[in-house]
Amino acid sequence: MKSVRTGTLLLAGSFVGVFAVLGLMTAWAQREYKSGIIWPEPAIVTPGATPSDPPSDAIILFNGKDLSQWHNGDKWEVKDGYAIVRGSDIVTKESFGDYQLHIEFATPEVVRGSGQGRGNSGVFLANRYEVQILDSYDNKTYFDGQCAAIYKQSPPMVNACRKPGEWQTYDIIFTAPRFDEQSPDVKVLTPGYVTVIHNGVVVHHHFELQGGTYYDRPAKYYEKHPVKQPIRLQNHGNPVKFRNIWLREIRPLEGKKPDTRKPE
Ligand code: MG
Repeated sequence: MKSVRTGTLLLAGSFVGVFAVLGLMTAWAQREYKSGIIWPEPAIVTPGATPSDPPSDAIILFNGKDLSQWHNGDKWEVKDGYAIVRGSDIVTKESFGDYQLHIEFATPEVVRGSGQGRGNSGVFLANRYEVQILDSYDNKTYFDGQCAAIYKQSPPMVNACRKPGEWQTYDIIFTAPRFDEQSPDVKVLTPGYVTVIHNGVVVHHHFELQGGTYYDRPAKYYEKHPVKQPIRLQNHGNPVKFRNIWLREIRPLEGKKPDTRKPE
């Protein structure tokens, strides 16, 4: 009897031991990982009431009242909270590097012209990379020249245009190209990248710019330029309307690895 009881006790003891080891292993496996990187605390930003409204840290480029932030802004007509293209391009007085840009536009309600001649304008990032504005609602043209195209580089993935006269939105995320400042030639260190969301629809996802967007020559980085450049809105002879233009500069947080050297 004694040996049976000892055997039972040993068996029970083994089970307890096995479970204890399993428990320890599980606890070890579930230990929380932390990167250890020392991050600055992200700033608090109050979002706009809707995704179209500027967040608290946005730079307002046009709030419906005047185009005083733009060179040649006085050439365009401003009324009823929007601006209408007249006579010349307008260019921001300030320059920007990497940013998130919100812009609203409407092509003319009264449809005139066809192809590239209907509701043509454009948003020139860094003053030279055009996100096309065109009335592409039931209006055929070459695909890499239709609305929301990166002009002559890529059509939008889909045509998300609203009808002529209706307000439309672009939310553009732009990373400026970087050039080797020391090199006498145009040496691209990193190309520009563009993401475009048209009326809430992604139409370009981190598109790699092949260079400037030109009417009469292939895309290429023909010249180097500083990271910060102005934004230009195009006059193409069509009375396209704009409103609610704002921008947020993109500044990634910089984390630091902790100092692991032992104190002397
Ligand atoms: Mg254009």
